[in-house]
Amino acid sequence: MTRLALLGRDGVILKVQTGGICSLDEMQIIPGSLEAIARLNHAGYRVAVTSNQPALEEGRLDIDTLNAIHARLNELLTRVGGHLDALLVCPHRGTATCGCHKPDSGLFEEIAHRLEIPLKGVPLFGDDTADVEAARRIGAQPFLVATGNGRQTHQIHSDLPLFDDLPHAVSELLDHR
Ligand SMILES: [Zn+2]
Repeated sequence: MTRLALLGRDGVILKVQTGGICSLDEMQIIPGSLEAIARLNHAGYRVAVTSNQPALEEGRLDIDTLNAIHARLNELLTRVGGHLDALLVCPHRGTATCGCHKPDSGLFEEIAHRLEIPLKGVPLFGDDTADVEAARRIGAQPFLVATGNGRQTHQIHSDLPLFDDLPHAVSELLDHR
């Protein structure tokens, strides 16, 4: 059986920057996150990343810069033996009715379609309320991480366990479930 893990980008893999990551200089890896992705790969999980990037429609981020950020991310991930099976972005403003802005399910449905894996019960690693709410809409299992906005999100979703970071959450999935 092919398994799938869904990950947020900012706050899970990359450090959150106010206003979003709009240049390569603002791209900082959260320690251990790339190795955790490689661990998921090696355990047989396809790994798909989704991200809201309203800075694109707002004109503060251009597509070439976004591509450069993702190329760099993929390069660094390759160095630790990991890879992403999908990396999908909503480029719209938060107020858009595009259907792909998390917590809407559009990006996740696209992943399920591309990878031909149903979403029900899959782990979704995220740090913000949009991730948690998206997980509930698509029937995924939220893993809330304390990096990024995770601690604030935990105040709203205090029923969920809060993991220190992606490596700890991945350990819980792989070692205890
Ligand atoms: Zn969108």
